[in-house]
Amino acid sequence: MAKVSIDYRICRGHQMCVLGLPDVFAVGPDDEGRAMVILGRQPDERLAALRDAAASCPENAIRIE
Ligand code: SF4
Repeated sequence: MAKVSIDYRICRGHQMCVLGLPDVFAVGPDDEGRAMVILGRQPDERLAALRDAAASCPENAIRIE
C-alpha cells in the first residue's frame, strides 16, 4: 500500500491534485483552499497516478511513501 499525505506547511491551495485525482484529494475546510487527503492509503496499482498527481503540484507538497 502507498501512503499519501500533504505537507500543509507548503500547500498553497492550487487544487491541481483535486482536479487530477478527485477520489484521493478534496478541497479542505480551511479558508485558504488547501487540499485534504480523502483516502491516505492507496493500492500499489495506483502509484503511477499518485506520482503524476504529486508531479502536478506546483509546490511539491504531496508525499508518496
Ligand atoms: S496541488 Fe499541491 S499546493 Fe495545490 S492544493 Fe494540492 S497539494 Fe496543495
